[in-house]
Order: sequence, then structure tokens, then C-alpha cells
Amino acid sequence: MVDLQTQYQFIKPQVDKGMQEVLSSAQFINGPAVKSFQASLEAYLGVKHVIPCANGTDALQVAMMGLGLKPGDEVITADFTFAATVEVIALLGLTPVLVDVLPDTFNIDPKAIEKAITPNTKAIVPVHLFGQAADMDRIMDIAEKHNLFVIEDNAQGIGSTHTNKKGEKVKTGSIGHVASTSFFPSKNLGCYGDGGAIFTNDDDLAHTIRGIVNHGMYTRYHHDVVGVNSRLDSLQAVVLNEKLKLLDVYNERRKWAAIRYTQLLQGHSNINTPVTSGDCDSHVYHQYTLRIINADRDNLVKHLQEHQIPCGVYYPIPLHLQKAYVDTRYKEENFEVTNQLIHEVISLPMHSELDEEQIQFICKTILAYLD
Ligand SMILES: *Cc1c(COP(=O)(O)O)cnc(C)c1O
Repeated sequence: MVDLQTQYQFIKPQVDKGMQEVLSSAQFINGPAVKSFQASLEAYLGVKHVIPCANGTDALQVAMMGLGLKPGDEVITADFTFAATVEVIALLGLTPVLVDVLPDTFNIDPKAIEKAITPNTKAIVPVHLFGQAADMDRIMDIAEKHNLFVIEDNAQGIGSTHTNKKGEKVKTGSIGHVASTSFFPSKNLGCYGDGGAIFTNDDDLAHTIRGIVNHGMYTRYHHDVVGVNSRLDSLQAVVLNEKLKLLDVYNERRKWAAIRYTQLLQGHSNINTPVTSGDCDSHVYHQYTLRIINADRDNLVKHLQEHQIPCGVYYPIPLHLQKAYVDTRYKEENFEVTNQLIHEVISLPMHSELDEEQIQFICKTILAYLD
């Protein structure tokens, strides 16, 4: 699905040199590489504060802790996403409220959000799924109207641009009250281990969060709040510093691959190619995901595997049907789209090193199966 070896070969001299410097200096935690990465990412995203942490799941959890959400508070998020999003809501004793997504973009349905709001609702967590910005204008309007926090889960969307209703281009992760991302190796901006970060424009919230990731410490050995230990290490920051310089190039290559896939596959009656809402900058193709209509998706997966083509089904089970997250309040008729998508979606190989020959082979193999 990804080709991290080839990608490494291109940045090997800089990464190896930077790693050697960390090893020689022995500043493994909070070294200069972490500080420079933080500053570079703030500039890239146009946000006031980036707070690096250990992974994308921690980033979400710490964001929610920073907002002071309390047990009993309801948090609305998408039924169709990676489990980390709902996991941290539940872990903090908050009440997850899962809602349906849109059939074209796979992103959270603003109408379903509005329907799910109760007097206990405190926050909305839109996920920029597969790299495409959720409908942030409508989500921010709903949040303002009902006085809710918006926490963007930007783990899949880093580098994607949302053109807001004023016509301004803003990066995903800079729109809500706070946002999280992941630097897991296969993400669009991935390190060589685990990493994550929280973004916000709110000075007070940034201060609170910086203490939370460091055991609730604002003054050395004074623990004012219950915190966690969540740090990005210097070796990972070296990798991220090099890869951030190339993020737009990587995302452009993903976009090129997506356009080629769509050119070769669109028009087939069994295939729905991805729909991009807004302008083309709003999608960075963390995944290139087709819907297979009136054909056996699972057999297609087998067929591709037999031809040594990796593919993935994201996600095979909606969160509201996962044992850990079942809730008697959910009604199946409110999950029409996710219940359908789980049978139809298939994600094709997607990374910055894909070439024309590989794409043609993958598309030919898919079309041969369907015809
Ligand atoms: C990857 C991912 C996460 C979690 O990130 P980790 O770094 O693996 O903890 C959270 N949300 C979404 C949507 C993701 O894709």
C-alpha cells in the first residue's frame, strides 16, 4: 500500500546525518530537532501552536482533556473512521455519539450531526477521512449555534486545504478549536516510528495542553492537573523535519496518482471513483477509495491479492456495530450510508512513489475482473 523504502532512499543523506547528530548530542527528548519541527509545522499550517506528542491517539485524547470535557458530556463523531477517534472519547468517560457519513465524500454528515445534538452535547470531532476535508463551514456554523467545541481529527488530512465561505484557503487542522494529527509511518507525513501533534490557535488552550502532555506540570514537580506522558522524540523529529519540506511534493504525487486511477477507472458501471468536494486542493488522498457497485467487492480483493496487488478495506465494520461501542440508543436506520459502504469500499495502493506502469497494471487487473 505504501513504499517507504524508496521514499527513504531520496532523503537518506539528510536523515542519516540528522540522526547521527541526535545520537552524538544524546538529546533524545525535546532536542533542537523537536523544537525546529514544531516551528516549521506551525508556519506550514498557519496555526499559532503545535504541541508535539507521542502518537495521533494521544493527540486526540489530550485535546479533549485540554478542553475540560467531563464524564457525561456527549461527543459526536463519524461512524465510519478509524477506531482511535471513538476510543479516546470512551476512555475519558465521555459519551460517544456516532453518526452517519455522506455517500460521496465518506465524511461526517452535517445534517446527522444536527439531529444528534442534545443538551449534553459538548463537542464534534470531524475526521478528514482519507485525506479529504470534511464540510468545515457547516460544521463550524453548527458548533457556533449550539456552543460546541470542534476537534478536527486530521490524522489522514495533513496538507489538505479547505476553501472557506469567505474564499480564504486554510489548512485542515487550523479551523476547529483544536486539532490532532498522527505521524504513523503510513500517514501522509509519517515518521519512522510513532508520533503525533496537537494544533490550536488558542494561547490558553495551548498552555493547558503543554502541561497535560508533561504529567500535568506547569512548574517543575508541581502537578496541577492529571496529565499523561506523551512526547515526540528527537530521532522522529529529524525524519519529520526532512519530510515536512517535501510534504506538498508528496501530496502532489498522490494527487497525480489519484487522477490517473480515476481516468482509467471512471465510467465503468461497477465503479464509483472518489468524489472531491470543493476544489481539488481539499483532498490529499491518504487513501484512494473506490465504491464497487453491484459486484462482489470481497472477491475483487482476493483477485487483486492473487495478482500481488495490495489493497485494503477501510473500514469493514462500522463503529456502531463494534462490540466495544454498541449502544442501545443507536437505530440502524440512522446508519444507512455506513452500513452500505462497508460492503463496497476498496482502497488501492496510494503513495508518492507510484508510477504510470504500476497504476496501469492495477487498473487493468481491476477492469479484467469486473468485465
Ligand atoms: C491513524 C489515525 C489515528 C491514530 O493515530 P496513531 O498515531 O496511530 O495513534 C487517529 N485517527 C485517524 C482517523 C487515523 O487515521
